[in-house]
Amino acid sequence: MSAIPETEFEVAILGAGMSGLCMAIQLQRAGIADFVVLEKSAGIGGTWWDNRYPGAQVDVPAPVYSFSFAPNPHWTHRFADAPEIQRYQQRLAETHGLLPRIRLGCAVAEASFDEASGRWQLNLDDGSRISARFFVCSTGQLSIARWPDIPGLADFQGRLLHTGRWPGDADLAGQRIGVIGTGSTAAQLVPALAPAAVQLKVFQRTPNWVLPRLDRRYGRPDRWLMRLPGYAALAHKTLCAALDLGRHGFDEGTLARRAAVAVAHRLRRQVADPVLREALTPRYPLGCKRIIYSNDYYAALQLPQSELVTAGIERASAAGVLTVDGREHALDTLVCATGYDTTHPLSGLPVRGRGGRLLSQAWAGGPRAYLGVSVPDFPNFFLMLGPNTLTGHTSALLSLEPQVEHAIACMQRLKREGGRWIAVKPAAAEAQDAGLQQRLSTSVWAHCNSWYRTEGGRIVAIWPGFARDYARAVRRPDAAAYELG
Ligand code: NAP
Repeated sequence: MSAIPETEFEVAILGAGMSGLCMAIQLQRAGIADFVVLEKSAGIGGTWWDNRYPGAQVDVPAPVYSFSFAPNPHWTHRFADAPEIQRYQQRLAETHGLLPRIRLGCAVAEASFDEASGRWQLNLDDGSRISARFFVCSTGQLSIARWPDIPGLADFQGRLLHTGRWPGDADLAGQRIGVIGTGSTAAQLVPALAPAAVQLKVFQRTPNWVLPRLDRRYGRPDRWLMRLPGYAALAHKTLCAALDLGRHGFDEGTLARRAAVAVAHRLRRQVADPVLREALTPRYPLGCKRIIYSNDYYAALQLPQSELVTAGIERASAAGVLTVDGREHALDTLVCATGYDTTHPLSGLPVRGRGGRLLSQAWAGGPRAYLGVSVPDFPNFFLMLGPNTLTGHTSALLSLEPQVEHAIACMQRLKREGGRWIAVKPAAAEAQDAGLQQRLSTSVWAHCNSWYRTEGGRIVAIWPGFARDYARAVRRPDAAAYELG
């Protein structure tokens, strides 16, 4: 029997999206150069590689959707589109010499912690193995495409697509298209598809809050300014502070909230038909689900070829979609803009911690982690953009950068103090989680169903405060919260 090839590293990073790249760059800076980045897709970018649907854009200003240590003078718009972001990521990988350390098309089948050696063993799909002292999961919260639970979906004879797995060759011009979902993704996709569609049916279950996207083109003067020493840092800092003010909009009775509600009402007046306007009026409190930022969603729905279908979907058929009012909607392509499974992260990958304990068992009631980074009984293991780390009002990178600092500080401590492993103490994790869930229980996010919550109602995605508070809490690990062995 031939031996299974095994390669040893200090750190194995799962995912070459924003989190994986940030971790890799900062590890190098910290003098930990012995790492590998494992990426199952064929290219760098994570969610920006997978989400290549027409119209895909970031909905926070691009200067804060770039790392504080790597400003991008090339942005062409305040709200960059997916290909532009992917190019930024590719450039980062190239300029930091990461390409030789990134293994594309490399899927991990199983990961387990070996207590005796204090190392993680990763079994890869191709039959090879990797052993690493530290295992960093940088797969984020939006990586597992969620298909709708609609009977008969497999019977559909046309083309079935999910926005989170968009194929490069999908040209839907001249087709009869159905889009299921009306979240942030659909609001970007619908205006991009509508003009060239023969017919576009948007199946809406819940009408959402829409605010204007304050986009603008970045011209030569902007790009020149972004190259000036100090300007990019100032722009980053100013935008972070301005976006964090938006957090006030999630609290009852604030001026920010009243202003946002008034602006949304005003935007909805773009919808001329009162019946359609009523159908697009949200029935839940602003901010409870992710707010949509769009200037063209309402216009796209009013094109002659567009129709907002509000009758519930009964099932899919060979020809299209049947709704509960007895109508059959014949379609060439059905697009599911139905989001991601955020409540079962890493569900396709068995991760075994101390004593063979499965992460999926530890997370049976919903994912949880100390400050979103460390899980008791899973030593030398760090999550990036893990549970309860997104704010809903600003860039995820503001949470990510200090998480990377936290994880690297833990690695360095283990190296300094000696031992095989470092893990968060269960009591520290429980206390932090209890305080967080208490705070969330009276928040706006407790008022409706969304991808922020499990079916049981636990809010697993959101950090309820300002981004700067989270950064302050996570940046430097509390030595007393961790144990070494
Ligand atoms: P989402 O917010 O989870 O929306 C999914 C949509 O699908 C909802 O409208 C949902 O309706 C509908 N849906 C799900 N199952 C259905 C079913 N069986 N029948 C009918 N409708 C169904 O997903 P998303 O729009 O992909 O956005 C997810 C997150 O990705 C966003 O909130 C955002 O954070 C991120 N995103 C970011 C950007 C960006 O610009 N940075 C762009 C796109 C997405 P219900 O509301 O009734 O459940």
